[in-house]
Parts: sequence; structure tokens; C-alpha cells
Amino acid sequence: MNKELTANDTVEGLLEKIQLLEGKVNELEKAKKDAKEKLDLFQKQEETLTSIFNAAPAGIGMVRDRVFVEVNPAVIELTGYSREELLGKKSRILYSNDWDYEFVGEEKYKQIKDLGAGTVETVWKRKDGVLVDILLSSKPIDESDLSKGVIFTAKDISGSKKIQNALESSEERLKIIYQHAPDAIFLCDKDGNYFDGNLALESILGYSRSELKGKSFLSMGVFEKHEIVEAQKILTCSTMGQKTGPDELIIRQKDGGSIHIEVITYPVRIEGRMLTLGIARDLTERLKQEKFKRDSEQRISMHVNQTTLAVIEWDLDLKITNWNPAAEKIFGFSRKEAIGQLPAFFIPETDLALVENVWERLFKSKESVWGTNWNLNKNGDKVLCEWHNTPLKNENGEIVAIASLGLDVTNRNRSEKIQRVIYEISNATNTADNLKHLIENIRTELSNIIDTRNFFVALYNKENETFSLPFFADEKDNFKTFPIGKTLAGYVLRNQETLFANKSELKTLIEEGKVELVGAEPEVWLGVPLIVKGEATGVLAVQSYLDEDAYSVEDRKVLEFVSSQISLSVHRKNAEIEMAKALEKAKESDRLKSAFLANMSHEIRTPMNGILGFTNLLNSDDLSREDQRKYTSIIETSGKRMLGIINDLIDISKIESGMINVSLSEFNLNDSMDYVYSFFNPEARQKELILTYSTDLKYEDALICSDLEKLSAVLINLVKNALKYTDSGEINFGYTVVENRIRFHVKDTGIGIKEEKLEVIFNRFVQADRQLSSNYEGVGLGLAITKAYIDLLEGKIWVESEYQVGSTFYFEIPFMKGKEDKNTEFMENPIKEKSNKGLKILLAEDDKINQRLFSYMLKDASEELIIVDNGEEALETYKNTPNIDLVLMDIKMPGMDGYEATRRIKAYDKEARIIALSAFALEHEKQKAIEGGFCDYVSKPVSKQALLGTIDKYLK
Ligand code: ADP
Repeated sequence: MNKELTANDTVEGLLEKIQLLEGKVNELEKAKKDAKEKLDLFQKQEETLTSIFNAAPAGIGMVRDRVFVEVNPAVIELTGYSREELLGKKSRILYSNDWDYEFVGEEKYKQIKDLGAGTVETVWKRKDGVLVDILLSSKPIDESDLSKGVIFTAKDISGSKKIQNALESSEERLKIIYQHAPDAIFLCDKDGNYFDGNLALESILGYSRSELKGKSFLSMGVFEKHEIVEAQKILTCSTMGQKTGPDELIIRQKDGGSIHIEVITYPVRIEGRMLTLGIARDLTERLKQEKFKRDSEQRISMHVNQTTLAVIEWDLDLKITNWNPAAEKIFGFSRKEAIGQLPAFFIPETDLALVENVWERLFKSKESVWGTNWNLNKNGDKVLCEWHNTPLKNENGEIVAIASLGLDVTNRNRSEKIQRVIYEISNATNTADNLKHLIENIRTELSNIIDTRNFFVALYNKENETFSLPFFADEKDNFKTFPIGKTLAGYVLRNQETLFANKSELKTLIEEGKVELVGAEPEVWLGVPLIVKGEATGVLAVQSYLDEDAYSVEDRKVLEFVSSQISLSVHRKNAEIEMAKALEKAKESDRLKSAFLANMSHEIRTPMNGILGFTNLLNSDDLSREDQRKYTSIIETSGKRMLGIINDLIDISKIESGMINVSLSEFNLNDSMDYVYSFFNPEARQKELILTYSTDLKYEDALICSDLEKLSAVLINLVKNALKYTDSGEINFGYTVVENRIRFHVKDTGIGIKEEKLEVIFNRFVQADRQLSSNYEGVGLGLAITKAYIDLLEGKIWVESEYQVGSTFYFEIPFMKGKEDKNTEFMENPIKEKSNKGLKILLAEDDKINQRLFSYMLKDASEELIIVDNGEEALETYKNTPNIDLVLMDIKMPGMDGYEATRRIKAYDKEARIIALSAFALEHEKQKAIEGGFCDYVSKPVSKQALLGTIDKYLK
């Protein structure tokens, strides 16, 4: 409906319209009233605002296009400018430089654009030039139309600068922390473009920050190609607002070296841009440590696998959890067999308590514990092990497992035992006072390492091929000595090798005829030779009658090992015993020597007495012819006796000094027998004894090769003794040929020799019965010399005698036949045509007394005796005198000696017969004389009998 009044309106219409108008008037009045109220309110608000505006402590103003439109009194106060000076002016007036003015403008409008309002911190320059820190906030009146102006507030913040400074210094600290953080920290964008980084970054990359500026990590060669892809992925994630890492990357440093790094990134929004804040860590050191750890773990496992020590681990229930290859080898159980087992599985019952004690100590002390105990290998053999048990603990020090390192010391233990046994045996050598004790001790010591219930040491006696057993321990047998024969010990001795045989092996040896069993049959027999300097001196044997396995191969080795010490000990003890015997002998011989000296004194004084006493008597004027003869005869006998003693002494000293040699020649044995007979027959007749001799060979077969002098001396000695020790009856001597030996005998019916003396009469200075034989002359050397000569002739001498009935001395020498029937030079070359009565003899002798003696002796034998004083004269005389039959030549003469003279005479007449006269009663002198051209040799003092006998040889 039209609400305007018109002329066409009806009353009703008009009324209606009036009513409408009235409503409108009311409305208007109400609106007027509202407006009035609003105006009042507005006026009230404006008043309030104006008073706030004027009273606000912060500066408030309005700018349009950065030109001041309005400012409150606070701005005026803040800037020092008046209202008029500010209004209509650009705000540049309040800035000290364009840079600040521009920054504030850009920043503020940027913020308003982005956020609807902006806040900037800046510095205003007051009218009086003082700079004031201002916090400026701006908000446009109409966001969509900035031309309408911007309201700003300016707050003097110089007052809170201290706080600000404090804030700044903490920022500084953060900066320092940031710069010096050990990890590299960097800021880059999604393309890897560098914005910022700390010192650690420089050191990781090797590039300085200025070198990095403006560059991208992705393109500057920090990453290898394939790593670039990884790096890009990280950056992309980061720009999408995700945290990444830690990721491991390899980067190339500026100097070309490459290192592993670990990177974590955080997305950060800075000034509206999404950037990547990265933290990178150099992994070189960590990787090194990890590698080291890995390597050492590997090494440890290598050790465990390769060591010769058994390495076993146990859990807390003492079940095996680890069993290394060495344990497998030592005990024979595989790892599989061992894992999960309890200790008793390879520890014998006897040692379990010992081991339990070790565990106990270990759990109590939580420390390593050593222990040595026997273990059992899979075969059930005992293995001695030294264990080092260590508790394995966690960080809290609680034991979680136990590791045991085991060293197999079975062999060491055995060799220690062997060493000890050897030591004890060698010790026993010093302490045991006889062989029996020594061997008893050896057995006791050996029983520490092997079963010695049946044990013996058999010592070899070469002379009679027997074994003697100073000590014998046996359950079944007992022997003191047995012949070597084919015994087991004999077998070992002969082969110089160990015999280790069980019953059946022994049987084979018996069947092969190699051994014969003496005594009970053992189940097993083990014997080793005792060898000293390569020679078997005996056998040590052990045996078992019950158990074939009583001895192992190890036992055999042990026995072989200790046998050399036993050999030495036994040998040493034997030597000691021998030495003790020798000492006893030496003492005995010392006693004998003293007795000898006393005896000798007696023996020498007696004849000397005779000689001197009767020589004195000879001087008496009233001596009858008969007395004279008697006295001279006594003097002669005494002299002979002296000579005999001296000859014996010289002979024995020659024997002792080894100066006696065998001088073989060919001679007729029957001649020698005849000579001895002729020599002693007068004496026998004198003592009214019957002396006879017998020969086995015919004269023409009796040519033998031997040492004539020694053989004669032996015969003469024995016959002389027979005569000496026989007062009545007869004496027979002679020889028989027994196989290839000549056996001589000298039999008498004399005083005989007591049985106990039979053995010693051949020793030096021994007389069978001092008491008795003191009636007989002699110093007890004759038989010793005799025996020595026979030894030299490789013969033997023995005696059979019955006390007070008679004695028979026997001796044998090898029978060497002479080649032809030619006598030796001594016996031969006789001057056959002539009788000794008509001899022309030349005597060369420098000693006047001897000259006279010889002329007496030769008075009856020679027709003419020419005596000269030296060799020269002898030579001259021989040359100038025809028909000289014989020359007697002293060897030692002044000027030309006997040798030289003989050589020259022989050169002049090789048929010349020259007999040497010498006081050198030595064997080699005689030899030398013969070699020097003499035909015979007579030693001084010369007896008439010997001289004529010798000359006689050349006349027969
Ligand atoms: P000697 O006769 O100088 O005492 P021997 O060495 O010749 O020394 O003899 C040693 C001992 O042997 C003699 O002292 C004597 O007791 C004894 N003897 C030697 N031959 C005989 C014998 N034919 N009859 C008895 N006893 C003898």
C-alpha cells in the first residue's frame, strides 16, 4: 500500500494514513531520542577517548601515507616536537637515517599485510638529537583501504633497555654455545642452500663459512652422487615440516677425505619460509670404536676357538652353556654333547668335593678362583687340569655366568713327577750305603709313577754271564742271581732295547725260541736296559701277574726316561763300592809295603852282614886255608843273595813302569829245560833233593817262538822257590802240550801253602806265611814278577797245594812253533872247532878291578887274554891281532864306547864275535846290544858261572 497522502484518499484511507503517520512520528521521535542518546553517548565516549588520547602514557597518532595526521601530547613529549611541527610532516623527521625509516616502513606494512597489524622496534631521533628506543605498533583504520590512514602507538622502551641488554647477553651466550657446539649445526633451504652454520660444521666439512655462503650443499661436491639423493630426500621431508633422522651419510671433505656423519633435521619457519635446521655429528670416532669393539669381539671369539685352553661357560645352575674346540679336543666330548651338562659329567667323583669348594669360594668372593683337579675324557682316561674360574658379572656386579679356562697339565704333571723321581733317585745315590738300599729306594720312588709291586734290577756280570739281583721284590719269585741264558732280562740286555710284552706276545717270543721263561708267568712284562756309556750294565723290570693293562705306553716311556738316571746311579754306587774296595786294597798294600820295607831291611842287612863280617875275618893273618875258603864261600853266597834281591827289585820296578816288552825269538824249549836243570841240579844235590824234569816234545820238534828270557826267568823262579820251600823229597818240572798251549808245571814235596793264601801269593810283597817263611829268604816278589811275565806272554798261572804236603805251580803259554830248526843267537853260533881251552880273548874294560876279576874268571877258559882300556884300543888291537876268537866288550867306556867299537870291529870283520858286558840290567839294553852287533849280553855283576856259560854257548 502507498503510504503517501493523496487527494483520492478515502477517510478510511486517510485515517489509515494518519495512523501510519502518527506511527512514523512516534518512530521519528524515538529515533530522535535514540540519536540524542547516541550522541550523548558518543560525546561521552569522545570525551573519554580524547582524555585517554591526551592522557595516554604512550604516544598515539595517526599517519596517512606516513604523514602525521594527528598526534597526542605523549608523542609531542616523546619527540620534543610541537603538534604543529609534526602534523602534515612525513614521519622521516623522527628517523636518524633512511635505512631505519625504510626498514620500519617495509616491515610494518608487510606485517599489516600478512597479519593485519605490525610491530617493529626502531630508534627515533628526538628534536634535541637524543636517540630513543621505540616500540612501534601500527594498525590501519581500514584494512582494505590503507589510504584512510594508520593509527600507531609509540612506546619509549629505552627504560627497559637493561632488561633488553640482559636478554641480548643471554642471546650472546646461546650464540657461543651454538658456535662451539660439538655437533655441526646448519641452516639451509630445501635446495640445500646454505644460510648459516657453526664452527663444527666448518671442521666437519673443511670449508669456512664464507666459502659456504651462497652455495648449496647438494651441488658443491659435499655428497657423492648416490648420497645426493639421500640428502635431497631429507631436505624434502624437512620442508614438508617433518623432523628427520638420525640418518647416516657419507660426506666428502674439502681435502678429499670422506667421513661418516649422522644427521637430524628439524623444519623451521623463519620469516615465513620453511627452512631446515640440521644437526650433524662426525661418526668417525664412534665407528672406530664400534669397529674396535667388533674386532675385539671377533678376536675374543677367535681366541676362544683357537686357544689350546679349554673355555667353558656355565650358567647359574652350573649347566654348561659354552664349550670351545679345545675343550672338545682335551675331553673328547663334542660341544653338542657337553652343552647343558652338569660338572659331574666330566669330573670324577673323587674330585667333585674339591670342585664344589672352588664354586663356593667363587660365589662367595665374586672373584676368580684357581683350582687343579682331575677330569675325565670321553674314553674315561683321567686328565689333570688347572682351572681358572671367573665370575661374569653384569653392570650391577651380579654374577650372571661363570667362565672356566682349563689347561691340560697331565703331561706336565707327569714330567714333574718324573723329574722329582729322577732327583730323588740321584739323591738316593748319595744316601744309600749299598746297592741293595739304593735299588730299594729306586723302587719306592718309582712307585710314585708306576706299579712296582713286582720289580727287580738285574745287574750284569760279564765274567760269568750271570745277573745278580741286589734287590728283588716279587709276589711269586725270588732270585739272587741267575744265568743270563735266554731269560727276558737277557733278551733286553742283548738287544739293548725295551721289552714290553703281554702274555701272548711273550708266548710268541718263546715259540720263536728267543726267550725262555724263568719263574712264574706274568700277564705283562716290561723291562728296560740300564745303559752306561753305550754298554748295557743291567736290566730294570716290572711285571704284573694279574692285570694285562697294568702298564701303559706312557709307563714304558717313563721307565725308559728314568732308566738312564737309574743306570747312572747304580753305576755310581758300584763305582763307589769299587773305590772303597780299591781304597781298602791300597791301604792293605800300604801295610804290605811297610812290612816289605822292614823285611827288605832284614833281607839286605843279613847278606851285607855276612859280606862285611867275613871280609873282615879274611884279613886275619892266622887264617887256615880251609877257613879262607869257607869265608869266601859265605861272602859269595851273601853277595848272590844281595844280587837276587836287587834283581827282583829292578824287575818289579821295570814291570811297574811298563818298561818290560815281549821280545820274541825262536829257541829250543828242551834246551831251556835242560839249562834250568843244569843250573839248579848242583843246589838240589846239595840239599839232597831229587830234581827231575820232563818234556813232551821231541828235541827236533821243540823249536818254539816265545820270549826266551822271560820264560827262563819264570821257570827259574818257580824251581828256585820249589828248592827254597822244600826240605826233603823231590822236585819235578816239565811241560806238556795241551791243544795249542804249552802247560808247564813245577811240583815239589815242600811245605805247601795254606788254602787261604793261595790267591794272594801272586801279589807283590806277599809271603804266604810270614812267620814260617821268615826261615826262608825272600821278599815276596818272585811270584809277582813271574805272574807279570806270564801275563805279558798271554798265559796264565795257578797253583795247587796242600799245606805241609807240597805244591804244584802250573802255567800255560801259547804254543807257537818255530819255523826252522835254528837256535837263537844266544844259544847258537858256537865256535865248534875249538875247545874253550885254547881261546884267544880280547877284553875291553876301563875298570881295573873288573879287569882283574875277569882275568881270574877267564884264567882257565882262555889261552890268551888281551886286556885293553877303551873302545879305540879294542878296535886297534882287534885289527892288529890275528885269530881273536871272542871279544868281551864293556859298553860304557871313556872315549869310544862299546857300541861304537863293536860297530867298527864288525865293519872290519863281520864274523867277529863280541859279547857285551853291561851294568844296565834292562831288557831294552839287551835288545839294543843285539841290534848293535853284539852276539850276546852278560849283565854285571857277572858271575863266573854265567860268563863261562855264555862263552860256552859259542863253543858247543
Ligand atoms: P819269596 O819267595 O821271595 O817270599 P815269592 O813271590 O817267590 O816270594 O813267593 C811268595 C810266597 O809264596 C812265599 O813267601 C811262600 O810263602 C809262598 N811260596 C812260593 N812258592 C812256594 C812253594 N813252592 N812252596 C811253598 N810256598 C811257596
